[in-house]
Formats: sequence, structure tokens, C-alpha cells
Amino acid sequence: MNEAFPAGGYHKKLLRINLTTGMIQSEEIPVEVLKSYIGGTGLGIYLLYSQVPTGALPLGPENNLIFATGPFTGSLVPGSGTYSVMCKSPLTGYAASAQANGFFGARLKAAGFDALVVQGCSEEKVYLYIDSNTAVLKSSEFLNNKGAFETDKKLRARHNEKGYEQKISIACIGPAGENQVRFAAISSDRGHMAASGGVGAVMGSKNLKAIVISGDGPIPTAPGKKNEIKKEIFRWREESNASGLGKTVHEKGTLGLFKPYHDKGWVPVKNMTTNQLPEDTLAKFDWEYIQNEVYEKVPRACHTCTFTHCHTVRVKKGPSKGFIGEEIEYEILAGYGSNWGISDPGTITMLNGFIDDLGMDAKEVSFLISMLMEGRQKGLIGKDDLDGIDLTWGDVDAVKQLLEKISLRKGMGDVLADGVARTVKALGKEFDKIGVYVKQGNAPHVHDSRTRWGTLFTQIISNTTSQEGMDMTGRGNPELGITKPTADPDRYLAEVQTKTGPKRQFEECLAFCYFQACSLKQMVQTLNVITGADFSAESCLKIGERVINLLRMYNIREGLSMEDDSYSHRLGQSPTDGPGKGKSLNSTFNEVRQAYYEMMGWDNRGVPTAETLERLNLTFSHIEKVR
Ligand code: SF4
Repeated sequence: MNEAFPAGGYHKKLLRINLTTGMIQSEEIPVEVLKSYIGGTGLGIYLLYSQVPTGALPLGPENNLIFATGPFTGSLVPGSGTYSVMCKSPLTGYAASAQANGFFGARLKAAGFDALVVQGCSEEKVYLYIDSNTAVLKSSEFLNNKGAFETDKKLRARHNEKGYEQKISIACIGPAGENQVRFAAISSDRGHMAASGGVGAVMGSKNLKAIVISGDGPIPTAPGKKNEIKKEIFRWREESNASGLGKTVHEKGTLGLFKPYHDKGWVPVKNMTTNQLPEDTLAKFDWEYIQNEVYEKVPRACHTCTFTHCHTVRVKKGPSKGFIGEEIEYEILAGYGSNWGISDPGTITMLNGFIDDLGMDAKEVSFLISMLMEGRQKGLIGKDDLDGIDLTWGDVDAVKQLLEKISLRKGMGDVLADGVARTVKALGKEFDKIGVYVKQGNAPHVHDSRTRWGTLFTQIISNTTSQEGMDMTGRGNPELGITKPTADPDRYLAEVQTKTGPKRQFEECLAFCYFQACSLKQMVQTLNVITGADFSAESCLKIGERVINLLRMYNIREGLSMEDDSYSHRLGQSPTDGPGKGKSLNSTFNEVRQAYYEMMGWDNRGVPTAETLERLNLTFSHIEKVR
């Protein structure tokens, strides 16, 4: 490694806040750690593994909440306001890793820090205020059980931001986080949700309502490299603008994915009891219809975004006419629309605002409510079991009432606040046949992935409560050595995951918006010119692999076994209609999983071998115990 590393891209500093003692201090991040883990999820899992004791309760004071940026954060790299949040997940008991775009990461960097580590638990409800000179804890009693949007508004007013000028950035929780709903999210800059794994519940368990950052200091840049950096970023932009995903997101938003996904049978409809929508609903879910007929829009781009796919919108027609909120994504249209039997896009937009304000993860909310709706239809649960709420397909008011109860852990909401997998256990009957979740304990992304096996498999074996690799099955990728499907489909599926996981995790170390991704070659060139490093593509993929293995070792340390690398009954069922009718991963899943373990250099129970750990420079005294 070049001696000059890091010449730019980092402050080499983290801010540690102990909420039990009130201690706030700045600490040096060793250069060796940055070389080995880069930042984002990599830095996060390093800090989680090394600083949170084995067996710490996810909602106890020993768990840490880690906000980590990467070397691109705050730079001119497109979509580089991104940050990762990591902690032990209250949903799974393993590592949680959630990312959000917006401005928060860039503001943290501009305040002089690469990461924040929040530990302990405050006696009083507080928020943290950070600027380039100060970090102080202030009472947040005036925000108790306030929604995330109102919290954002009140804090902006208190810190002299009149509108939404982005001079400050705010990450906060709604009532779901305060009441430790296990799938509570952190909302940053009004609607950029760090959602996976219950990170908002951990923030709530610490009595930390919000973090306000007002940083406007310089971002470290390698001396004399400004022009070179600009050139690399220009090339990056050209590449990402020309990519298929980039074009779609720029022109249509992720709503443009709905129709093609539906036509392939990849959209969940009514808890995956089908994947086909009636023609009239499909017409209302068309991106052009929503953009032109349903919305009036004002762009709301994130830090250095070239796509501006986020907009603030006003609903022009339908029962939610006049509602002002955020433009919805594919996953919201599927999650709160097709999966719940709701067909009015304006109402889905309103529900999105309502749920973001409560501060919950869309994936878990979608499959929790759809399971209860199907259970109600099948007579597994009645109105009386839901505190008098008559939850049937498409009933918007019933959904709102129930979600409000969940966010406050009131009545039946207290049971449901534990997420899909735990609710299945609590309700018994045949809920284990209809619940949609992976065995680690979290709901998957809102796709009908039963015949989209690359997407399903990367979530089943994920160590992050989200997607660990990329679904490139069928497409091929010469840069990663992925061919078109081979004669052995089981090994092919395992191979795609083995080869895409390291790239995806490397990207999450760099911390930028996934929609703006470019080739690995371009990412590495940009990293080298920003930090003064001399990384190669191989060394960067090795870093991604190291991060996956450290995540894996953390999870094994906390009790993960190969039985957790599996999925619920419904996810293994064949669709009864649509293009995937009759297909299921069930018959070959064990072979795929074993092939994956073998390709990753793990033993036949999914534990990284000593040779693998040594090759990745990961050595742990507890390995013998685990094995
Ligand atoms: S593409 Fe969308 S999410 Fe990504 S940085 Fe741009 S506006 Fe933000």
C-alpha cells in the first residue's frame, strides 16, 4: 500500500458518545483499519465486532449504534451523501446494516468525522447536536412520541433553518423507534430511511430521539489532485448515466420497474397468494400515469445526485387528493399497494408518508400486514384478536389504526411490534404457512422472489438483514467473471452470489447511492485518486470478501447456525399462477447452499475455515470454540 494513504477522503476521526456517562470524545481511527475495511459497512462491522461484547442485548446499553461514512462521502462522487448504520439487530439478534442517502453522511463528514459511535443509554430523552466545533446532548422531551417529520421540522426551526435548506441534516426516529418496535427505522432528511434490521429501535432504546448535524467544514482531498478527481468523477457520471438502471431511475424513478417486474411474476400480490394484478390496477400502477396524472412534483435530489429521482409531490386526484409527501418507490407501490390490495397510487403515497412518519421499515410492515390480511381472510384471526380492527384486503383505515397501535406497542400492537417471524410464533395456528420471512428473522425485500432465485438466495444467506450480493443471474458480468447461465444451475446460482457479494459489500464500504453505481474499474480509479491509495480491483474485492466474512463471524459468535440460512414455508412455495407457476427453489436449495459454502471457503455448516480467515487476514481466538 502506498505510504501516502490516506492523502484524502478521511478525517481519520470518529466521535464517541456515551449516553450513560455523558462522555463525548473524538478518537483517531487507525490507518490500518481504514486500509482493511475502507468505511461504511466495513468500518461499521469492524467497530461492532471489536467493541460490542458477545451476547449483548440488542436493546440494552451494551449494544452500540454506529453511523459510518466512506471515503467518497461528501465528495463530488454522484449520490455521496450516503451513510451506513450498524448495530446488533433486535429483529434477528445478528448484525444489522442499513443505508440511507440524502445529506446526513455528507454533513457528518463536513463536521469533521468519518463515524459516530453511540453507546450506553441516557436517563433522559435527548438529541445530539453536532457542528464543526461542538457536540452536545440536549433534552428532547418536547419531541416525545412525535412523528419523524414533525421532529425534523421542529428541530430545523430550533436550529434556525427556516425551510429545508440542507444547511443542517437530521436523522431521527418516530414513535416506533421510541417504543422499540423491532423493525423501527431511522429517518434522515425527511424520508431517507435507514430501515433494515431495527436500527431505529436501538436508537430508541438509548433514549436518543435525533442527531442534528450542522457541519460545513472542508472534506479532506488529496493535495494537487483536484483536476484528476474531477476527471474520474466525470467518467463515473458518464458510465452511471448510460447504465440500464441509471437510465430507468433517471427517467421513470424506480416506479418504472413495476410493470416489467409484474410481467415476470416478481411482484407480490396479496401476500404472494398470486403475482398477477387485474388490468385496471396495473394501468393505475403505470409510472407515466402516476408521474403525469397523480402527481405534481418538485425535485428533491440528494447530495451530488445527477438523477434527481426523489421528488416532493402533491397528490392531484383520488381519495388522498391534496396530500403532500414524498414520491413513492417501486417497493412502496408493491408493498403497500399490490401486497395489501390497495390500488389508488395517491393513497399509497399517503400511506408511505404515514409509515415513514411513524418510522418503520417498509419490508417488515408490508409482509406483516399482508400476512394478517390473509390470516383474516382464512379465518386464522378475527376482528376481536386485533382489538376490534377489521383488517381486510384494501382497508386503508384499518391499516392505519393497526400501525398506530404497533408504533405505540398498544394492545395487540405490542405483539405485532416484534415483526413477522416472532408474530408467526406468537399467533401459532397456520401462520407459519403464510408468513413471509427468512429464517434469520427478517422479512425480505418486497418482491415475489419465489422464482427470482438470485434475489431470494442473496437475502437468505445475507449477514446484514438486507441484500448481501446482487442478482446478476441471467445477465452475466465479465468484470466479475460471471458468465451467462451454465449447464449446472445450482452451482451457477451459488457462483453469482459468491462473485457479486464482495463487490456489493465493497460498494457499501465506499458509501454512495446504489443507483449511481459504475464499473468496479471506475470505482477503484476514483478511490485511488481521492485517497492517494494504490488499490487494485482484486484487492477491493478482497476487502468486500473480508467484510462478508467478518459479518459472518460476528453472527456465528452471536449464535447463527446453518439452520438460519433458510426461509419460511411461503417463500418456498411455487406460485399458483403467473410466469413462475409451479417453480420453487425448494428441490435444490440444499445443493445451492452447500455449493455456496464451498465457493466461499466455508465448511459444510457455513463456518469460514481457518484457511479462509487467514487468507483474508482475519484471525480470532474464538474460532476454535465456534467450530
Ligand atoms: S438516485 Fe435518488 S436516492 Fe440516489 S442519490 Fe439520487 S435522488 Fe438520492
